[in-house]
Amino acid sequence: MSYRVTLIPGDGIGTEVTEAMCRVVAATGVAVDWDVQQAGEGVIAQYGTPLPDHVLESVRKNRVGIKGPVTTPIGTGFRSVNVALRKALDLYANLRPARSIPGVASRYEDIDLVVVRENTEGLYAGIEHDVIPGEAAESIRVITRRATERIVRFAFEYARENGRKQVTAVHKANILKATDGLFLRVAQQVAAQYPDIAFNDRIVDNACMQLVQRPYEYDVLVLPNLFGDIVSDLCSGLVGGLGVSPGANLGDGVAVFEPVHGSAPKYAGQNRVNPTATILSGALMLNYLGEREAAARVEHAVTQVIREGVKVTYDLKADRNDPTAVGTREMTDAIIAAL
Ligand code: NAD
Repeated sequence: MSYRVTLIPGDGIGTEVTEAMCRVVAATGVAVDWDVQQAGEGVIAQYGTPLPDHVLESVRKNRVGIKGPVTTPIGTGFRSVNVALRKALDLYANLRPARSIPGVASRYEDIDLVVVRENTEGLYAGIEHDVIPGEAAESIRVITRRATERIVRFAFEYARENGRKQVTAVHKANILKATDGLFLRVAQQVAAQYPDIAFNDRIVDNACMQLVQRPYEYDVLVLPNLFGDIVSDLCSGLVGGLGVSPGANLGDGVAVFEPVHGSAPKYAGQNRVNPTATILSGALMLNYLGEREAAARVEHAVTQVIREGVKVTYDLKADRNDPTAVGTREMTDAIIAAL
């Protein structure tokens, strides 16, 4: 039997890191039939949109997808393919584990945090306009009971299923009294239904400081969209950076996995970047498919190669100019050998 999975390679470094992930998944022996779909700037001329309907249809049909990063123009141009995909498929939960990997240079050891980010509303609702062009602009931040309830419930269910002890809701309810006030009240109501899991809340600025000073006080964090985006990158920084941080976008019965990092255009096509984040996203996908043993083997192989510190990309070397750093393909070869 083989699993049919939508593969969106993305652009920039996307092609290289997704190719690495496909090779590692194949090496586990789990048969995956990749339904390759292109999205991003490269398809606009042909389809008039960076996210053609047939790409969404493919994920809807297969129920599982994995994607490389897709470039989003800054300030102008088309809307983010990533945001559009999450909204169109109602992938409401963005799950970003941040776990220390021995051998990755970082200020901390044994970090094991999980960031649960609301993926469909907040400041990413996309309701933005010029009030006076060039002088004033406005963006509307939408928080609803429905979206808050399901994301907080997701965080508690995740905590329960994964033996986690505490969920922290992060917000700015002292200032954003209507929107984050609602987020916090709903979080407290959902928390009351999970007496077996501890619950607390933090104002986002304080949470950022405490995560840097005392990260061990946190376990699972649940946040509205923009705070989740920022705090999850902060948590990636605690465990050695974007190159090692996987992610998952989950809805009801549909999931799209992707690394946390972007398309790093300056490194595109150079066989330089770290494939770990995408390979670990592949492990999250294997887990989701029920292939737990294969997922664990991938995680162990990645950990082993990084711990040895020899066949690793430049970003995992103590000195980023270390001439012994290997390329994306060679690090992937080492991970496959370790499998
Ligand atoms: P980025 O993640 O591409 O790069 C940030 C930094 O991290 C850079 O210094 C880069 O060199 C480094 N880096 C990233 N991935 C790495 C890897 N695998 N190995 C080693 N180093 C790595 O973020 P950015 O520069 O802010 O964004 C570039 C583009 O990516 C933008 O168009 C942005 O919109 C897009 N983006 C897409 C996604 C996504 O598709 N989910 C996520 C974030 C950013």
